[in-house]
Amino acid sequence: MFEKIVSFIKNYYGNPDGVIQLHEPRFVGNDRKYVLDAIDSTYVSSVGKYVDRFEEMIRDYTSTKFAIATVNGTAALHMSLLLAGVKKDELVITQPLSFVATCNAISYVGADPLFVDVDMHTLGLSANKLEVFLKEKTEIKNGNCYHKKSNKKISACVPMHTFGHPVEIYKIVELCNLYFIPVIEDAAESIGSKYKNKHTGTFGLLGVFSFNGNKTITTGGGGMIITNDVALAKRAKHITTTAKVPHAWNFFHDEVGFNFRLPNLNAALGCAQMENLPKFLENKRSLALAYQKFFGLINVEFVKEREGTVSNYWLNSIILKNREERDQFLTYTNSHGVMTRPIWTLMNKLPMYQHCQSTSLETAHWLEDRVVNIPSTPRL
Ligand SMILES: *Cc1c(COP(=O)(O)O)cnc(C)c1O
Repeated sequence: MFEKIVSFIKNYYGNPDGVIQLHEPRFVGNDRKYVLDAIDSTYVSSVGKYVDRFEEMIRDYTSTKFAIATVNGTAALHMSLLLAGVKKDELVITQPLSFVATCNAISYVGADPLFVDVDMHTLGLSANKLEVFLKEKTEIKNGNCYHKKSNKKISACVPMHTFGHPVEIYKIVELCNLYFIPVIEDAAESIGSKYKNKHTGTFGLLGVFSFNGNKTITTGGGGMIITNDVALAKRAKHITTTAKVPHAWNFFHDEVGFNFRLPNLNAALGCAQMENLPKFLENKRSLALAYQKFFGLINVEFVKEREGTVSNYWLNSIILKNREERDQFLTYTNSHGVMTRPIWTLMNKLPMYQHCQSTSLETAHWLEDRVVNIPSTPRL
């Protein structure tokens, strides 16, 4: 079976001898032109037309009112948690199955992640388990939600759209509203994904994208905060640009700010990448469909988009029988020129997050043993 999978992937990419990576960037449009133009303009840092244009393109594409470009997705998450008012010693609900940046951002503001189990089908935060947790383990005092056991305030919820598959975001936001918990969507992996025809990242108070080199589109390094709240948007721009009070020549900063603005050079690349996003998505979708058909024939479970959602299929994944089969698959494929990777080690197992509160995490553990990512670069 492993042999069949390797030859299918090598055939698909028409590359029998080289190594097939998990996800590579593609520069097939105006990428070079815009980057050179940014260099020629001398505006290579945080001021320049490409930063504004890139933000405008993201706003238009996602139909959100405001977009603020940042140096990377982690910084966008960190800033969003600050903007949502998360403070030291508070708790932020998130999923144990995510890239470490989600939890790290929570730590940067002095809060602790509180892990709620994931859903078997979306691989993201389970709305049902969240509902049970909120009902049984929390109480509302003065319009805030408290975790009864630790008596700590739950000040945000950060669901993540795993590998581009939308979580049950509508239900999660509705629940969190009932409990006065702002939602920040970690949509780092899911640009172009939709839940009932609305872009991921646009359901919560704030949403975050990443444009790291391995994501669907890239700026080298880069991120974006999106929101429909004008006050939050203004503040996002302010604190990511050293909190300088606008003035023709005076340096006056009214709080401790950050230097987290995306440079114009990176934004130039972002503009070119955005022009090709529909093409990338279409291409990734046809790969996902080819995988789905192939894995159906050999009886291997392929992770598909859920009804009522559109996945960007950032990383395709399959679910193997058990950890033993997973390890054999990883060993075989990686030594036969096809890069594959296991899903992340659960966050609650990492030394810095072992002490965190959590619900029972049986689905996360089950998936951790079985989910593997397979090559997902668009064939362009
Ligand atoms: C990529 C990613 C991030 C962070 O992005 P960077 O741009 O690399 O900082 C955050 N969360 C998730 C789930 C990611 O996959």
